[in-house]
Amino acid sequence: MNRGRLFVISAPSGTGKSTVLTRIRERFPDLAFSVSYTTRPRRGFERDGIDYCFVGKETFEKMVQDGEFVEWAEVHGECYGTPRAPLERMASSGQDVLLDIDVQGGMAIKGAFPDAVTVFLLPPSLDELRVRLASRGTESEEQMKLRLENARREISFKQHYEYNIVNDKLERACEELAALIISKRSGGVS
Ligand code: ADP
Ligand code: 5GP
Repeated sequence: MNRGRLFVISAPSGTGKSTVLTRIRERFPDLAFSVSYTTRPRRGFERDGIDYCFVGKETFEKMVQDGEFVEWAEVHGECYGTPRAPLERMASSGQDVLLDIDVQGGMAIKGAFPDAVTVFLLPPSLDELRVRLASRGTESEEQMKLRLENARREISFKQHYEYNIVNDKLERACEELAALIISKRSGGVS
C-alpha cells in the first residue's frame, strides 16, 4: 500500500487558514487532519481533541522529552507540536493528511518528509490581515500586535513553499487549494 501524502498548509495568523481548511475538510472528508498539541488557551468554539489537544506546559515539555513530536515550535509565545504516532499511523495506512502548522513546522516536515506538499496561504495585504484578525475578535490587543509583527517574518518564508495561494476571495482560494489537492492525489502537478 502507498503511504499517504502530507499536505502542509501555513499562513500568517488571521489570513483565513482555518476558514479555508474547514471548507476543504468538508469537501474532502477522507483527508485526515493532524491534530496538534498546544499550550495556548482554548478559544470558545474550539473542541479539545478535534481542533487541538490543549495541554499544560508541563505535559507539553514531557512530550518533547519523550520524543512524541515529529516537530514542535514556539509560535506567538505558545508551544505547538505535531504528534508523531497518529501522523505515522495515518500516513502508513495510506491516508492523506492535512497539517495546519507554522513556517518552522512546515520546514521541519519538509525536511523529514521531502514528498510533503507545501502550501503557503497569503493575505491580500498586511492591512487586510489586520482587519481580519480584528474581525475574529479572539485575541487580546497584545496578542494581535505580536501576531501582526510575526506576519512579515512568516511571509518571507513563502518562497520556500512549493505553492502560494492568495486568500483574497474565499471561494476562489478554496477552489485553488481543492484543485491542487485533486491534482496531487491523481499524481499530477509537479
Ligand atoms: P487563521 O486561521 O488564518 O488565523 P481565520 O480562518 O480564523 O484565520 O480567519 C480570520 C478572520 O478572517 C475570520 O473572521 C474569517 O471569517 C475572516 N476571513 C477568512 N477568509 C476571508 C476572506 N477570504 N475574506 C474576508 N474575510 C475572511
Ligand atoms: P493559532 O493559535 O492561531 O491556532 O495558531 C498559531 C500558529 O500555530 C498557526 O500558524 C498554526 O498553523 C501554528 N500551529 C498549529 N499547530 C502547530 C504545530 O503542531 N506545529 C507548528 N510548528 N505550528 C503549529
